[in-house]
Amino acid sequence: MTQIELGTLELGARPKGRTLLTADWLLAHQDGHHVLHRRGELVIEGRHVLYAGPRFEGEVARRIDLGAALISPGLIDLDALSDLDTYSLVLDNQPGWSRGRILPQTYLARGPYEMYSPQELAFQKRFSFATLLLNGITTALPIASLYYREWAETVPEFDAAADAAADLGLRVFLGPAYRSGGAMVDAAGAFHMYFDEARGFQGLQDACDFIRRRAGDAGGLINGLLAPDRVETNTPELMRATMAAAEDLDVPVRLHMSQGKFELQMMQRLHGRTAARWLTDLRAFNRRLIAPHGTHATDDDIALYAEHGVSIAHSPLVSARMGSVLASFASIRERGVNIGMATDTAPPDMWMNMLAGLIACRIAEGRSDAAFSADFFNAATLGGAQALNRPDLGRLQAGALADVAIFRLDDPHMVPTVDPVTTLVLGGNGKATQAVFVDGRLSMRAGQVAGMDMVAARAQAQAQFDGLVAKYPDRSFEHPPVEALFRPSFPVL
Ligand SMILES: [Zn+2]
Repeated sequence: MTQIELGTLELGARPKGRTLLTADWLLAHQDGHHVLHRRGELVIEGRHVLYAGPRFEGEVARRIDLGAALISPGLIDLDALSDLDTYSLVLDNQPGWSRGRILPQTYLARGPYEMYSPQELAFQKRFSFATLLLNGITTALPIASLYYREWAETVPEFDAAADAAADLGLRVFLGPAYRSGGAMVDAAGAFHMYFDEARGFQGLQDACDFIRRRAGDAGGLINGLLAPDRVETNTPELMRATMAAAEDLDVPVRLHMSQGKFELQMMQRLHGRTAARWLTDLRAFNRRLIAPHGTHATDDDIALYAEHGVSIAHSPLVSARMGSVLASFASIRERGVNIGMATDTAPPDMWMNMLAGLIACRIAEGRSDAAFSADFFNAATLGGAQALNRPDLGRLQAGALADVAIFRLDDPHMVPTVDPVTTLVLGGNGKATQAVFVDGRLSMRAGQVAGMDMVAARAQAQAQFDGLVAKYPDRSFEHPPVEALFRPSFPVL
């Protein structure tokens, strides 16, 4: 056995033979729970974890001592942004509906168009996948806005996304988002829904064909996901057909629901009930469903989530900046609902989300002992794995897939270290990620991703985003010029 530096491993490759990783802390899994080992040892061989515990007695090809770091299971992101985040435009420019987030009737009448080229759609997924790896995320269910789309997501861009995930080495659950309806705002500023059932069914069929063709690719990195967009944009028939197809394909379904006032009002207007009640009545509410964001779920809704085994994808940062909160993470889990975590924005920083979630939960409960760092870490690993019905993910234990994130604990901004998980939640962020293994392959090290120049990619992303912003007047209420849509925080002199 030889002692080597992490830097000598080939980026983008799966090391041959057994690799032993050790550090000040190892977060292993034992008897159904995460446990910490001081100076523990993790051995990976091929695609799997061979050993995670105090000390490995067998032979290994190499040993790597990472020092002041936490060896952790890779994080699972149930709603991982896979485009260039447009929320940055409306954080300080509101209301969002008047700034391109609900399509005006005038734009729809003229004929909506794709605001990105096929190459740009492919690039933004590849770029976002790389940023997920930079943040210690090893499993992702991509999500992108449909506001700038002609209608919904397309098969070619998902073929490109599957290729990108395979090239970069990221575990993904993929399927183009589809919908049978959308929201619009009329000239008087009133909101309406419009529907095109045939397009919804075509979208479902395209998604099913894509999943049949690509699921299992890249040695299992590519998995299927059905992604009907938002609950209010789907007809009862499309929801029933979606859940039947999910059963047939054995894939999860992600559906945004209980996420805002607009949806609550639309569901009342269209169906006279909440989303959870509506889906239950349709017999389309079951454990295949992963539902961002749950912040507007009623007590009755939460009972239905628990009864039917529906998981919530929790993005506390995104919810909080919209002024809403899951009320509460602790009480909903106590009622038996599984919660996984999601970043849903850029940067896709899961540590920031764990802290935001902990703060939001304590505010919602009005007490400081309502939830702890470990609860959110469990949600970001085991909760996600449960939502995906994948007990081989989210844990470091013999036989599990070797999806590993290494987080530094010697960053001068994080002083002092008491407990590694507490320290990372309280003072850490995604930048503490030193390296990521996915499926036993070294996918990211020190900010570098195999096959991608991140500095050049960042510049390309900016140029692409600037091009999108220039098109915003087309799809904004009353079509004001860009300068009137997005004002600077302070006067620019
Ligand atoms: Zn979302």
